[in-house]
Amino acid sequence: METKEKDILRGGQFLVKETKCEDVFTLEDLNEEQKMMRESTKEFVDRELWAHWERFEKKDYAYTEECMKKAGELGLLSVAVPEAYGGMGMGFVSTMLVCDYISGATGSFSTAFGAHTGIGTLPITLYGTEEQKQKYVPRLATGEWFGAYCLTEPGAGSDANSGKTKAVLSDDGKYYSITGQKMWISNAGFCNLFIVFARIENDKNITGFIVENDPGNGISLGDEEKKLGIHSSSTRQVFFSETKVPVENMLSERGNGFKIAMNALNVGRIKLAAACLEAQRRVINEATKYANERVQFKTPIINFGAIKAKIADMATNAYVDEAACYRAAKNIEDRIVIREANGNSHQEAELKGVEEYAIECSILKVAVSEHVQHTTDEGIQIFGGMGFSADTPMESAWRDARISRIYEGTNEINRMLSVGMLVKKAMKGHVDLLGPATAVGEELLGIPSFDIPDYSELLSEEKDLLIRLKKVFLMVAGSAVQKFGPDLEKHQMLLMAASDILIQIYMAESAILRTEKNAKRFGEGAQATQIAMTKLYLYRAVDIIQQKAKEGIVSFAEGDEQRMMLMGLKRFTKYTNQPNVVKLRTQIADKVAADNGYTFD
Ligand SMILES: Cc1cc2nc3c(=O)[nH]c(=O)nc-3n(C[C@H](O)[C@H](O)[C@H](O)COP(=O)(O)OP(=O)(O)OC[C@H]3O[C@@H](n4cnc5c(N)ncnc54)[C@H](O)[C@@H]3O)c2cc1C
Repeated sequence: METKEKDILRGGQFLVKETKCEDVFTLEDLNEEQKMMRESTKEFVDRELWAHWERFEKKDYAYTEECMKKAGELGLLSVAVPEAYGGMGMGFVSTMLVCDYISGATGSFSTAFGAHTGIGTLPITLYGTEEQKQKYVPRLATGEWFGAYCLTEPGAGSDANSGKTKAVLSDDGKYYSITGQKMWISNAGFCNLFIVFARIENDKNITGFIVENDPGNGISLGDEEKKLGIHSSSTRQVFFSETKVPVENMLSERGNGFKIAMNALNVGRIKLAAACLEAQRRVINEATKYANERVQFKTPIINFGAIKAKIADMATNAYVDEAACYRAAKNIEDRIVIREANGNSHQEAELKGVEEYAIECSILKVAVSEHVQHTTDEGIQIFGGMGFSADTPMESAWRDARISRIYEGTNEINRMLSVGMLVKKAMKGHVDLLGPATAVGEELLGIPSFDIPDYSELLSEEKDLLIRLKKVFLMVAGSAVQKFGPDLEKHQMLLMAASDILIQIYMAESAILRTEKNAKRFGEGAQATQIAMTKLYLYRAVDIIQQKAKEGIVSFAEGDEQRMMLMGLKRFTKYTNQPNVVKLRTQIADKVAADNGYTFD
């Protein structure tokens, strides 16, 4: 299918423009090559990771490294690397796919994989000079070398640009001398190369460097951190003491490090979301098998409504997350292709392609990391006492899931970023929020229509509701921007609420589009459970949006204005036909129970 610029929305435009279901990519659109890739990734996981799950729990760091080498031999580390540098040069969707299916067995391997292929390699492929790429990328692509990413410092976490690590140019101008302390560095224990961010003189922004790991060059490591989860992921402090780095190892330009760090993180965020998908599927599979077999009160516990509700919600979240992740991944891939066709180098095209969808990357990171947390928690609950035992995989899955809300930018930071970036895009004229927000304001003053729409077509009420949910965001965020202007960033509780609305809209819309597309091509009957999951998710989204919007409105509007906005909220979130969520959950859970696991991917 030829991709045309007009077919794909710009980042953030989902809020104000309609997307047709034919224009979204879904997991059901994978081509044969991608399906084979998925199968070989799954085989690798079952053979090397899942079968040795206990070794990961016992902090066998050497085994993580061994598995990374094996992944390299199979080409799994090189999917995203351009062919010119020894990689497979596959598109963004394929790289997401590998990231997704390789990540379910253990968070230890998933973190090692993500830190190496993402933030450990990407800054070079995205910002490196030709010489840097020729020198380092082929080794990283094969797993001959491993990479790590050194941004965080004891005093610089979320405030990543505030690091104290220094880079001082030598008198002869041939090298920089780097001194400083980096903290929480994944893969530090076995990597050959660090991407290090340091400050030159009193520059406003940090600068990126490629630093080879040579203990004889002033580099030393702290002990392995004692962590809640991801037990076999190597996480150590890294100390640089007058470490000499040739000037040609500077990444991009002086002072460009913060930009590099943030763009690497954009990719990292969407890939982290992908990395939380297979973890959810595996937990659902294990929990369903257990619930089918575990008998209490002479009944398999899966027959109890309380358990069905959990299974239904877990499956629904996974289904919606898949829809949103692959939708955004294809948007990024298409944007890269379009940019290349317009004359951009692959490097430039990839950089801009990902940057374009930074809002969606943040949304996905937050939503999917919270879903995997919820799913693992419910997984433990379904296992009952056995779930609390380290002998079952639920316990480690729960601990491993926890980190996803913290790294790659905490979920608080990503929530604020998602709304902040959207407002900035609107200011720059890249997304027209003002026009639609003004129209919503006028609609609030008008008399509502009392006609009952025709909702006979599949998901038509859901699609209509979605349009109205977008109006809720425009109403709340639009008024907040008007009220507070640039000071909005100081109103964090409001930003959090606005972000939650935005997240729910994107996730629900992605589910609706996936289901609508598949119902059209495979038939409504074949998609009955997916339709139920889409309706259930939207129902839950409406509840969340009502609550968050109300919180926002009463925090900044008073009197008549408040009353008018609350009435608008009621109108915009109104169902004509309330879905029967008990029936929906039962339908979904019964299907998962009958299949003895999650079968929608
Ligand atoms: C296991 C693990 C692996 C990691 N791997 C790497 C790695 O490979 N490379 C690397 O560079 N880093 C890595 N990190 C670091 C990680 O990215 C940071 O921990 C994260 O960015 C948060 O920083 P912090 O821990 O200093 O928390 P802080 O920034 O101190 O945040 C503490 C709390 O305050 C909140 N907060 C902070 N600022 C604000 C604000 N402005 N407004 C509202 N709330 C705020 C945060 O959301 C959080 O809830 C890793 C961390 C862990 C735990």
